[in-house]
Amino acid sequence: MEDYLIRAITTNKELRALALRSTNLVAEAQKRHKTTPVATAALGRVLNGALLTASLVKSGEEIVLKIDGTGPAKKIIAEANQKGEVRGYIANPQLEFNTTEEGKLDVAKAVGAGELSLTKIMDMKEPYTGSVPLVSGEIGEDLTYYFTASEQIPSAVGLGVMVDKDLSVKAAGGFLIQLLPEASEETIKLLEKNLAELKSISSLIDQGFSPEEILDSLLGDLDYRVMARKEVQFKCKCSRARSYELIAGLGKEDIKETLEKEEQIEIKCHFCGETYVFTKNEIEKLLSEIDKAEEH
Ligand SMILES: [Zn+2]
Repeated sequence: MEDYLIRAITTNKELRALALRSTNLVAEAQKRHKTTPVATAALGRVLNGALLTASLVKSGEEIVLKIDGTGPAKKIIAEANQKGEVRGYIANPQLEFNTTEEGKLDVAKAVGAGELSLTKIMDMKEPYTGSVPLVSGEIGEDLTYYFTASEQIPSAVGLGVMVDKDLSVKAAGGFLIQLLPEASEETIKLLEKNLAELKSISSLIDQGFSPEEILDSLLGDLDYRVMARKEVQFKCKCSRARSYELIAGLGKEDIKETLEKEEQIEIKCHFCGETYVFTKNEIEKLLSEIDKAEEH
């Protein structure tokens, strides 16, 4: 089943609602970063949160969602854009297995206390960053608090990842609901009731719920119109050409020094785990290109 996201608005114009199924892309992140179950859940929730948030910004803008906690997970970072592309990593992918009393993977314990920050990268403008203290370390609740406290938009965010016994990703997804200025007390009450009755998002996805069916459960009797539907995927911006430029940027002396010690130069991308290897021959060619450029 394909990963995709929908963005909708209720016909009474009181709520904006997004739902996401991301099982394949979180599975890819798990494979790339070789994460253990708690790390898979923590990173997957952040990837989901970044994708949902990126769907609210203007076209061409990107967002960076960063969780900086005191727990063993340390930093978790995801970058997403409006096209439905996301990449991300967790500083400690080998978190110990921990479950809550209810038997769920204990993401809050892995994250600890700390800060959530959201940076919007806009064309031709300085990036803007807003941050809030973590309220629970569960990521979904923290993002809910961010929207309410930092952007003054009352919101509800649910993010989930279910990991199978063989460590693979069984189900992943999320939702985001925001009250628009017109929202009535009646609509808010109905939404609160639906939210309270909703099963965990990962178990709904595991049961085969599509993003549309998740919105049906969340919005109940409220009619809505889907404004956008897009495929989502794990996609990194790194490339061999960019890594080559990165080496060139180190400067001749540093490159020569490295070549005296190593037979090759390896550049590893944090975001996706891809490694680019450059042989001694390739690097020597690069050095002569730098020499030529300097002669002119
Ligand atoms: Zn990469």
